[in-house]
Order: sequence, then structure tokens, then C-alpha cells
Amino acid sequence: MRVAVIGAGVVGMTTAYFLAQNGHQVSVIEQRGNVSEEASLAHAGLLGPAHLAPLGAPGMVKRILSQWLNSNSTVKLNPSFRLAQWSWLRAWMRECSAEKLLINKEKLQRLGAYGQHLLTDIEHLHNLDFQHRNGVLQLFRTTKEQQKIRAGLAVLTDAGIPFQVLDTAACHQLEPALNQQTALVGGVYMPQDGQGNCVLFSKQLKLITQQLDVKFEFASACEQIQSNKNGVTLLLKQGDLANHVQFDAVVIAAGANSSLFFKQIGIDLPVAQFQSYSATASIKNNEDSPNISIIDEYEQTVITRMDKRIRVAGTLRLGKNSKKTDEIAWQNLRQIATDWFPNAANYHTAQTLTSEHLMLPDGVPLIGPTCKANVFVNLAHAENGWAMATGAGKIIADLISDIKPDINLDGIGLLR
Ligand SMILES: Cc1cc2nc3c(=O)[nH]c(=O)nc-3n(C[C@H](O)[C@H](O)[C@H](O)COP(=O)(O)OP(=O)(O)OC[C@H]3O[C@@H](n4cnc5c(N)ncnc54)[C@H](O)[C@@H]3O)c2cc1C
Repeated sequence: MRVAVIGAGVVGMTTAYFLAQNGHQVSVIEQRGNVSEEASLAHAGLLGPAHLAPLGAPGMVKRILSQWLNSNSTVKLNPSFRLAQWSWLRAWMRECSAEKLLINKEKLQRLGAYGQHLLTDIEHLHNLDFQHRNGVLQLFRTTKEQQKIRAGLAVLTDAGIPFQVLDTAACHQLEPALNQQTALVGGVYMPQDGQGNCVLFSKQLKLITQQLDVKFEFASACEQIQSNKNGVTLLLKQGDLANHVQFDAVVIAAGANSSLFFKQIGIDLPVAQFQSYSATASIKNNEDSPNISIIDEYEQTVITRMDKRIRVAGTLRLGKNSKKTDEIAWQNLRQIATDWFPNAANYHTAQTLTSEHLMLPDGVPLIGPTCKANVFVNLAHAENGWAMATGAGKIIADLISDIKPDINLDGIGLLR
């Protein structure tokens, strides 16, 4: 089959790879000049499965409402939050119960564990080097945070995913560079969770897919999708040139832009566009820098070492951003990095990025067929798209190829 993939972020790239492996003729349509130049560029590097969790959790509604006026909050509605986004917010609030948290966490972990296993296979098969290593430490500043994650740990036990609950001293022993002065009541070490550089991976996958005859149309934006009895017709724009191109099937993997196609393909789900932020600084003192990736649970922020740099990423903002809200978000990230690793890097010279991503109320990506024939979606990966990409790409490729997917797909398609 001739299959088009819209978007060359990490999700589009893994989709193209597995489609080509299944013998399809694949064209990747990308509006930018290269792969992984949008959300996939800003990633914090974390790979699943244990830490993966949706935003919706008990206590989150209260936290967001109580911090409405606190501009320093790392999870926040921007002042421009629009009425149209209320339907998403209402649906999200329904996902914040303890029961829903466990259901949604299980779905993310199912996808994440599958993805992690496939990623390791691809890494070894093609001899890739994307700075992949294992071990993630989740830190709790307060006992309240520590208690909240107990139910989530039961999901890990049920799924056979290993973790170790650590006290403060054990956290410092595991990561000696952690600042002793910052409040810390304990942590959870997740030895199977990993980190890796999503951009390096995407670029290496580009070379491999080119060898598999995947064609890349860079600087080409898809503006319209029409499903018909022969497949799909895409309206592609390159500068002033517009072309209608026919394919047998299409996969929408256009990241934050994917919702532009919802009306055309009959998807009626509440979806929100969030901004997340990252700041990347060069390491100045090796011995004061982290060796494993850190999640600051309260701040919902990740600190990762990427070769000779440290990246701190997080801060979720719903509603249109402004120069002022962006600057506050980056300042927060610099402060959080300083809290944990004060002498590791010159954070004031950090390179900053903001990027948008889509999130469904349950925080679980949308992967599968749509009600339009030959139109498939692989989107709304929110803050977990790097960890999900490999599993999600293989699932879509198998569905298009009439191969039974390796894992149970309950709750990750349109029916949820
Ligand atoms: C600050 C930050 C930190 C993060 N940290 C992590 C992490 O630690 N672990 C993790 O798993 N995830 C993380 N994520 C999330 C992860 O980065 C995303 O979920 C993932 O990169 C999404 O990949 P994607 O391919 O769907 O989207 P993108 O990377 O945004 O790619 C979509 C592509 O589609 C293209 N496109 C859009 N519209 C069109 C069109 N009409 N025609 C042609 N091309 C189009 C875009 O140009 C883009 O290249 C983080 C995200 C951010 C912002």
C-alpha cells in the first residue's frame, strides 16, 4: 500500500519505520525542514514505563484552582484560558478520581512497557546510539506527595514493573549530587525506566527509513484530508504550490497541529493544547551534576543529563502563552534545577524552548482507525510521546497491515 504519514516528529518517524518494515511504500509529509523540530525537540528524555502517569489525579483540581493566581505554579491555566476549553476541563475533572487514575495509568504503562521493549530491539538491531541508559529517580518534597503515589505503585506491582521505595538518605546515596539543603522526604527508584535523546534517535531512524525506501517531503504542509473509495486524497502545500496527492491510507501524526484535522475526519473529542517548557544548560561541574534522571513530583519537572548538558523540563500551561508567561515558566525551571543541583551548570545562560502538545482528558494518546476509511491517527501523546512513540508506531503499522497488534488496545482508540 502507499501510505502517507503526516508529521516527522518522533511519533511519525516510528510509524514510518514500522510501516516500511511491513512492506508499505511510505511518504512522510513534514512542514519543517527536518525531523523532530517541534515537541520532539523539547523533550526531557524520559522513557517509561514506571513513571508514566496522567495529569488527572486526586488533588489536582484543587491544586490548579488554588494556584490560579500564582504565576509561579508549574501546572497552571494561563490568563487567556478560553471558554471553549471548559469542555475539556470538565471532562478532565471527571478523570481525576482515584479509580480513573489507576485505569489511565495502566493504559499508559501498557503502551510504555511495550514501547520500551521495542525501542531496545530497534537500538540493538540497527546499532543505534542515542544516549540510552536506565534508571529514573522520582523525588518527593512532602509526605503528602509521597502518600499520593501509593495507589499508583500498586499498578506497577500488578504489572510486574520493578521499583524501590527509598528514604531520604537512600536517595542521596543513589544520586550523591543532590542538594542536601533542599527538602526531601523520600523517593521511588525505577530501574527499568530509561532516558535517551529523542532527536538523536529520530535522526538515526531517518537514515534507516531512507534505506527502507521511505520518501520524505520536507517543507510540505498537509492542509486537507479527503477519504474516498480509492483511499485518501491529501492537499499538500509547498510554498505557493498546492497539489492533490492520492494515497491508499494516511496516518495523522502531526503533534499539536493534529486537531486541525479533527473536523475533516469526524473526530469529536475534547482536546486541549498545552505548552511545556525546557531549559538546557552546559555542565560546568561534573561532580555536582546528576547521573540519573530526576522527577520532582510536586513540581512535575524532570532534570536529565544529556551528555555535557543538563535539561530541565516541565511546566504545563493551558491557554495562550505570552512573553511574560514564558519567561516566568523558564525562571521556575531554572529555580528547580538550582534547588536540586545548584553548582552543576550556569542556568542563567540556558537555552530555552517552549513547545505545544495535545492532551485528551484521560491523558492517554489516541491511536487507531477513525470513522473515515483509510484514515488513522497517532496523536495526543501529551508529555509522554517519546516513551510512547515506538509502541504506538508499531500498533498503527500493524493495524494498517491487517496484523493483530501484540498488545491489548482497550481504551487507546476512539472508543474510550
Ligand atoms: C518540554 C517537554 C518535555 C517533554 N519531555 C518528555 C519526556 O521526558 N518523555 C516523553 O516521553 N515525552 C516528553 N515530552 C513529550 C514529547 O516530546 C511529545 O509527546 C512527542 O515529542 C510528540 O511527538 P509527535 O511526533 O507527536 O509531535 P511533534 O514532535 O510535535 O511532531 C509533529 C510534527 O508534525 C509536523 N506537522 C504538523 N502539522 C503538519 C502539517 N499540517 N503538515 C505537515 N507536517 C505537519 C510538525 O512540524 C512536527 O514536526 C515532552 C514535551 C515537552 C514539550
